[in-house]
Amino acid sequence: MKNFSWRALLLWTLPILIVGFFLFQGSISTNTGNIGNNTASTRMTYGRFLDYLNTGKVASVELYENGRTAIVQAMDPEIDERLQRLRVDLPANSPELIAKLREANIKFDYHPVTNDGALWGLLGNLIFPIVLISALFFLFRRSNNMPGGPGQAMSFGKSRARFQMEAKTGVMFDDVAGIDEAKEELQEVVTFLKQPERFTAVGARIPKGVLLIGPPGTGKTLLAKAIAGEAGVPFFSISGSEFVEMFVGVGASRVRDLFKKAKENAPCLIFIDEIDAVGRQRGAGIGGGNDEREQTLNQLLTEMDGFEGNSGIIIIAATNRPDVLDSALMRPGRFDRQVMVDNPDIKGRLEILEVHSRNKKIAPEISLEAIARRTPGFSGADLANLLNEAAILTARRRKEAITMSEIDDAVDRVVAGMEGTPLVDGKSKRLIAYHEVGHAIVGTVVKDHDPVQKVTLIPRGQAQGLTWFTPNEEQGLISRSQLMARIAGAMGGRAAEEEIFGYDEVTTGAGGDLQQVTEMARQMVTRFGMSDLGPLSLEGQGGEVFLGGGLMSRAEYSEEVASRIDDQVRQIIEHSHNLARKIIRDNREVIDRLVDLLIERETIDGQEFRQIVAEYTEVPEKEQFAPQL
Ligand code: ADP
Ligand code: MG
Ligand code: ZN
Repeated sequence: MKNFSWRALLLWTLPILIVGFFLFQGSISTNTGNIGNNTASTRMTYGRFLDYLNTGKVASVELYENGRTAIVQAMDPEIDERLQRLRVDLPANSPELIAKLREANIKFDYHPVTNDGALWGLLGNLIFPIVLISALFFLFRRSNNMPGGPGQAMSFGKSRARFQMEAKTGVMFDDVAGIDEAKEELQEVVTFLKQPERFTAVGARIPKGVLLIGPPGTGKTLLAKAIAGEAGVPFFSISGSEFVEMFVGVGASRVRDLFKKAKENAPCLIFIDEIDAVGRQRGAGIGGGNDEREQTLNQLLTEMDGFEGNSGIIIIAATNRPDVLDSALMRPGRFDRQVMVDNPDIKGRLEILEVHSRNKKIAPEISLEAIARRTPGFSGADLANLLNEAAILTARRRKEAITMSEIDDAVDRVVAGMEGTPLVDGKSKRLIAYHEVGHAIVGTVVKDHDPVQKVTLIPRGQAQGLTWFTPNEEQGLISRSQLMARIAGAMGGRAAEEEIFGYDEVTTGAGGDLQQVTEMARQMVTRFGMSDLGPLSLEGQGGEVFLGGGLMSRAEYSEEVASRIDDQVRQIIEHSHNLARKIIRDNREVIDRLVDLLIERETIDGQEFRQIVAEYTEVPEKEQFAPQL
């Protein structure tokens, strides 16, 4: 869930921290003991201490805290020469003092710091953040009550300028692949930066802002850097989440600082990442907590309005949530150009792989095209990560060049996480084997299901076993029968558990499957009009609850429709569940054989799996996109 506010968080943690702080203080005075019992309330300067020492007024000295504090017994001439206990802070290093004390024959004792030193160290570490946090808290409180509060916080923003500046990004358009349309659109921005005269001469107003819209990892940051790189101008960057600090006014002052610096360095490019963090629709949101964001946003708008388009500053912002952005940001003269940067298609993936394989040693038999085909849904960042993982594996295996086996392992790793150690043989391993073979057999005999790529009992990430399918095409359009097939396939694991071990023995292992199944079925009913309710769209896109994007998108249907939706979802799932169970029952013999084989070998690839199944029952032909190798 995303719907918590930092303010609530702060209010909750602060009392805890403060209580912790006081507890600690208590423990200092009892625990450190050193000065504790001997507390001398009166302090004396080091200079006077030396005077007393030289004039023979000192009776005894006890050193504490690695010799940084002393409790001195001295005769105070001002109070009838009575013995007084005085506390002296000593300079950090004063070995000559010991010599002097010896010389003058003064009683002295050294109290070593036992483990209190650690305590002090720890306390030192703790105090700082605690103090900082409470100080910030007060600051925040005060400015909150002050109309136009930033006054105090401004210097704060200045002292902790959190934007980065790169004089040269070193990134060129050649480094960005697979998003040609976006690149083309932005080519012009390079010209704006390089030769603004060309536009101003004919009276054209140069746009100030470009908004890059797209999912994470598609190369938005990279693209912005490439523009700066191509134009040869400095690159200022800040992330929206950094703008919005906890305290009112800080964000706004950062915006001011940023624009000030940028103006000094024009022509240049300002890149604002995650602009949705500051640029959410104003005046909306749950639980308040928006004034800081609003101030920051207002400041940003003011700054953008405040300079001429021809001043040589171009602002590029990136977001993956354009739907929540404040409409004021999109007005002419602000982010009036919007460029989509989407996940790459197969051709784009190939180009990105080409870019990232430039500096890597790759075995000649590897086909980047095959990799591109195997990685639908991968973003540019995923692909870069994939090749890097493969290179790491290659180095670890002491090979000369990346081979398909490293690529395969790297894909698995990027998709499903780190490989774990296989379970030892036993009941739960058998159950997992049946579960996975259940998925795979349903996926194999149901005609519209994507073909099995492999089944494995080697754990990865959260999963104890995995069944991989190769999507048959670019996952563009998916038919109802494909969805039904996927739901049945996802049900296959639980169905196998039930059929083979009985209802009492089913496990939590199917939790993820059921979640997927329910989600798919629900979408079929509410978004794709694939149920008896007819072709209706009953839910907006996403449906995610977020702060600040207006009110929660509430269901736009009656209780009655809601219960009919539930009904339809249930029907779809029940149908698929029954189908999966029937397939398991009908194929028990081959399932047992496959499970034995899987336990023995840990992994069975799709080809072999299909061949074995074909010995027992009919296996429908499926289009294969196996890697060419
Ligand atoms: P975003 O800002 O969209 O989240 P980034 O620009 O930070 O994505 O991408 C992260 C990394 O992924 C880049 O540094 C680059 O190595 C790689 N990458 C992403 N998209 C592309 C692309 N289109 N072409 C080449 N590399 C890419
Ligand atoms: Mg980015
Ligand atoms: Zn499963």
